Formats: sequence, C-alpha cells, structure tokens
Amino acid sequence: MARARPAGRGAARGEAARAPVEAPLGAKQLERYSRHLLIPEVGIAGQQKLLNSKVLLIGAGGLGSPAAYYLAAAGVGTLGIIDSDVVDATNLQRQILHSTERIGEPKVDSAKRTLEALNPDVKVIGYRERLSSENIDRIISEYDVVVDGADNFPTRYLLNDASVKWRKPVVHGSIYRFEGQVTVFQPFEGPCYRCLFHEPPPPELAPSCAEAGVLGVLPGVIGTIQANEVIKLLLGIGEPLVGRYLLFDALDATFREVKLRRDPKCPACGDDPTITEYIDYEGFCASPADWRAEHEAAGTPAD
Ligand SMILES: [Zn+2]
Repeated sequence: MARARPAGRGAARGEAARAPVEAPLGAKQLERYSRHLLIPEVGIAGQQKLLNSKVLLIGAGGLGSPAAYYLAAAGVGTLGIIDSDVVDATNLQRQILHSTERIGEPKVDSAKRTLEALNPDVKVIGYRERLSSENIDRIISEYDVVVDGADNFPTRYLLNDASVKWRKPVVHGSIYRFEGQVTVFQPFEGPCYRCLFHEPPPPELAPSCAEAGVLGVLPGVIGTIQANEVIKLLLGIGEPLVGRYLLFDALDATFREVKLRRDPKCPACGDDPTITEYIDYEGFCASPADWRAEHEAAGTPAD
C-alpha cells in the first residue's frame, strides 16, 4: 500500500528547496487516471494506493473477465489470476477477456495479453493451476483482496478457509441463468461463506456447471459490481457489502438485499472453529473442460 506523503514536511523554505519534489505519478499516469484524480475520495494518494495494490482473481471466466478488465483499467498495479483452463468456444458468449483467435490458449495467457495491452502499468501474474490445499497459502498470502469467480464448491470452501486464516477479504460473486449475487466476506467483521453454508452440498445435488446456462451479460453486471467493491476496499471508502447479500434479477431488472450475520457456531470463523486444516473436497463440476474430460473418459457424451 502506498503511504501518503507526510503533511507539513519541508515547510521551511530551505528544506523545501533541497527536498526533491516527489512526483508520485508520471505525466502519462496523471493523464490516464485524470478522471480518478478529479474525485477527492481517490485523488493522487488513492491512485497511488491502487497502483501499489495486489488483487487475486480466482478464475479468468465470466466474472473474472469484467472484474479484471475494470481493475486493470483503474490501475490496480498487480493482478494475480488463477485458472487452469484453456479458452473454449463456449466461453466467448460472456468471457470478454478472450477472443476467437485464442481458442485453445491458456486463459491466464489470454487474460495477461488483454489486460497488459489495456494498461501497461498493470503487472499480471498468471497461475495456470487449480487452487488446492497445496498451493493456496503460497498464492493468497501475496494479495490484499481476492475476487471469487469460482464456479465450483471445492474451490469456494477452500478459498473461504484460507481467507479466514489469512484475514483476506473476499469479494464473492455467483451467477445462474438470470440471477446473480454479490457479497463481501470480510473475515471476523462479517460472515464468511461457511457461516452461511457450513458444508458443501453433496455432489449429486450441485448443479453441473457445464449444464447451468447463464445469460451472457449477467456476469458483466455481477463482475463489475465485484470490481467496484474491490476498489472501495483498497481505498477504504464507502460501505462495502459486508454482511449484505446483493441479489440481481436480470429479467425484472431489480436488486434486492438480504442481511447476513456471522454464525457463532461457524466451523471456520466461529467461537470454537473445527476447521483446523484445509479440506480438498472431491471435485465435481470443476470446469466445463474437466467435466467433459471426465465424462468422455467414462464413455458418456458430455453434451
Ligand atoms: Zn464463518
């Protein structure tokens, strides 16, 4: 995080003359971020904070695409993106980081090209791997805020338990057909994911991602709200969606809000937590590609 310049220093004329005038942003940056600098709540100090911030995105898919796009445009200096998948033709209806010519390319590589072309101030670190109990500590510890665009329960629970351990805020989003949800899990300040759902549902009751349809523009709405929450958290402004579950209905064009509370009996963040180590739940609905590979291997048609 950037430190604000101390006020009142160099008041004596001689000192001011000797001390180099700190130019926190270069000329190109002053131009690029001018519409941020005009907002008192952001300003030069806020923009510097963004440039020094590190945000981890779980997934470069439907939610990760718009979220990463706007965070890169805003000048969030480091974006980590974890995704083990390659770009597939069925992704292009909503995953706007990718393009037709990149079908077959790893999503993290495609995302890096798109985002660094948009803003050279942004460093994109791609992790072409699945989040697991083995790698999550190494990855999450580097970042200030996490954007959860995961499409499967094992990742969501693993991320929750790690974010509670590391006290990292998670901006959570989920989508299904015409409905989307967003909330912020701020460890110990609001509920965590396990406060709401102690355990994942049995695999047979979880909808298969490959079969769950979604209106292409819906992740654009939800992922953009996630980016907005990230910026607020990084700048320490506004009222984050902590303890508030925001629901969007694309057909009605309505937003609803449900209040959420911490559960003292929560196995992760409660008074007497029982989750003391990471659990790698069995992967069901990992990603459409994994799902297809599994089903094709089993000799059953994927679609
Ligand atoms: Zn909890």
